[in-house]
Amino acid sequence: MSKKPYFPRVALIGIGLINSSLARLISRDKLAESIIAYSRKEATLEEARALNLCNDYTTDITTAVKDADLVVLGIPVGANVSVARLIGPALKIGSIVTDVGSVKQSVIKDVSPYLPDGVHLVPGHPVAGTEHSGPGAGFPELFKGRWCILTPESTTDPAATESIRNFWINAGMQVDIMDASHHDQVLAITSHLPHLIAYNIVGTAYDLEAITEREVIKYAAGGFRDFTRIAASDPTMWRDVFLSNRESVLEMLGRFTEDLASLQRAIRWGDGDALEELFTKTREIRRSLIDAKQV
Ligand code: NAP
Repeated sequence: MSKKPYFPRVALIGIGLINSSLARLISRDKLAESIIAYSRKEATLEEARALNLCNDYTTDITTAVKDADLVVLGIPVGANVSVARLIGPALKIGSIVTDVGSVKQSVIKDVSPYLPDGVHLVPGHPVAGTEHSGPGAGFPELFKGRWCILTPESTTDPAATESIRNFWINAGMQVDIMDASHHDQVLAITSHLPHLIAYNIVGTAYDLEAITEREVIKYAAGGFRDFTRIAASDPTMWRDVFLSNRESVLEMLGRFTEDLASLQRAIRWGDGDALEELFTKTREIRRSLIDAKQV
């Protein structure tokens, strides 16, 4: 078992699904002496306060970070650059800045230029989530049994990385460490492209003039319902994911389009063997996910 991580003061920048889950977990497992939450909107902080998620709440971002030993960025990845610019001068020397964003190269590019010497950046991505947003959507078991990917650079202090690794292990996660560009490629196919497909198919269904909205809702069980769940994910978060991971998503989209064209051909030419061969392979993938307890 890893050593229990302990941070006297944790600052949560953003208090949505992921950071509010973290707040609940940190309080439950006593991983910090105190937690302060920052959010832009007073209404979001009010919701967090009503749920008693943290010790302190502020809309002033420098107040949030100035005494913190651990700062967790839990905001849309497109907001990292403006937030880093604001917090940089206020960060405590020796503190660790980490994040939970779904894209990793952009975090390094956007945040590291603003961190003073002696502040450690350990980018992270807990690969766990739901389609819900906001402080009320979180729950401490969100991370349990899932994977967390850390993407420190070669210059990152190994002790800081180890501290964050322990933190996520204590949250019930398995931790992998990899290069940020590799992370972005892997997640482009396992997470970003599936979301794009869901957004697209739900949009297409609603645009079809020959099929009424009533019919779409009535017959949603035929696979469409699962896509609508994914397509209900936060629009701002996903806008930023696609804009920040543009290259990897476009590369995977190219591959996907080619494979889709070959399926189209198989259907046109009545090539049942090709269809059955693919569907058998994909069924095995689903079974291996179940065996690995990832569904
Ligand atoms: P969320 O529930 O939508 O909460 C977002 C938080 O960020 C809110 O506190 C919001 O504050 C704040 N925020 C939004 N725009 C901002 C801006 N421009 N500047 C400063 N703060 C801003 O989000 P979430 O689902 O927890 O996602 C947070 C991060 O985790 C994202 O980077 C996402 O990629 C990553 N992630 C998400 C999932 C998932 O399934 N949702 C899974 C893994 C990782 P206000 O309400 O005050 O505006």
